[in-house]
Amino acid sequence: PQPNPQVGAAVKAADRAHVFHSWSAQELIDPLAVAGADGSYFWDYDGNRYLDFTSGLVFTNIGYQHPKVVAAIQEQAASLTTFAPAFAVEARSEAARLIAERTPGDLDKIFFTNGGAEAVENATRMARLHTGRPKVLSAYRSYHGATSTAINLTGDPRRWPSDQGAAGVVHFWAPFLYRSPFYAETEQQECERALQHLEDTIAFEGPATIAAVILETVPGTAGIMTPPPGYLQGVRELCDRHGIVFILDEVMAGFGRTGKWFAADHYDVVPDLMTFAKGVNSGYVPLGGVAISGAIADTFGKRPYPGGLTYSGHPLACAAAVATINVMAEERVVENAAHLGETLIGPALRELAERHPSVGEVRGLGMFWALELVKNKETREPLTPYNAAGEANAPMAAFGAAAKKNGLWPFINMNRTHVVPPCNITEAEAKEGLAALDEALTVADGYTA
Ligand code: PLP
Repeated sequence: PQPNPQVGAAVKAADRAHVFHSWSAQELIDPLAVAGADGSYFWDYDGNRYLDFTSGLVFTNIGYQHPKVVAAIQEQAASLTTFAPAFAVEARSEAARLIAERTPGDLDKIFFTNGGAEAVENATRMARLHTGRPKVLSAYRSYHGATSTAINLTGDPRRWPSDQGAAGVVHFWAPFLYRSPFYAETEQQECERALQHLEDTIAFEGPATIAAVILETVPGTAGIMTPPPGYLQGVRELCDRHGIVFILDEVMAGFGRTGKWFAADHYDVVPDLMTFAKGVNSGYVPLGGVAISGAIADTFGKRPYPGGLTYSGHPLACAAAVATINVMAEERVVENAAHLGETLIGPALRELAERHPSVGEVRGLGMFWALELVKNKETREPLTPYNAAGEANAPMAAFGAAAKKNGLWPFINMNRTHVVPPCNITEAEAKEGLAALDEALTVADGYTA
């Protein structure tokens, strides 16, 4: 594409004049004006092209502008652009069928939303109505969305300004061996102690007051902490023992990201409710939803479900989901994520960790990896303090700038960089990104002690 700095300047000027951006101090941001995107790349108006190791916000699991999905959206727009949610519509029916075919166990009914936070809102509402209980337990080091209940469930600093003491949310610690809240030294110890901690939390909160436990199957934004073997089954067992609904949030981990259709498939666990969004249609049109078990669907068999959205199951979004799921199956995108994760990205990141003093730990699977950047490998002191801003965040900012200079757009959260490219990235693209990451880590090394 031809550079066009004048158009870029106009796009930027209108943005700065009128667009109010998420999570940002409006006067302190400098958003890049994007001219276009294709596959694993996007570019600006000045002739700079970037390899996207973020998949947007971890949602373009099939990359940008997949021609078959673009065509499906165009065809749906030409035939039936929109229709109200109370009707049976072909694209919606087919999307629900394809999703239910892939969700684990008896999660066979799909409630559609416009995104992840609304999926979490509705899953917790279903759990509360199904059990008649008020509380929901969720983990520190988690993200569940930015609407009222979802932000209260979230276990990171984004919750603090919107916290409502009366939201009926109780937080607990999930396993994370590298920064163990339980002083554990092995995965097995971490697993046992985390389960004991959850059991104690349930006992002291009062099991009969708890509607649900919600967990990200593999926590995403909080650091891609793959759960130790047995943990999720242990949570399942605790929920069963106390009649608590088990919700898995697969908004980020679902639809191929971990090298299986759903992360739950790795851990042989079936929740009662599962939330999804993002990868369901690679974010081409906003869509999310809740996959619902038979027992919970039955609660609303004769009694109306008191929740809904004007755009629930929007035909354009559902047509994009049908096309995306079919493309993922035809092009073996999930298999690609598993294969390149295991044979190329995982080994390459571990090799970077050996060479770079700033890389404290590498964790992940599929196309879902985190590098924990540290000042010192022995003490594990994070390269930047928890929730650092301004000058305190300089090392991560310098790392990010170095990556971009090398044509790599990195995902950065606190002291971590996540390697979360499209699930259909090619081997050559992955190698190109890993080489740029290698160089950028040299900049991070400069801040180690
Ligand atoms: N749940 C998880 C695990 C997420 O990662 C996210 C978004 O990053 C959400 C929920 C919220 O989704 P949305 O931003 O579509 O509302």
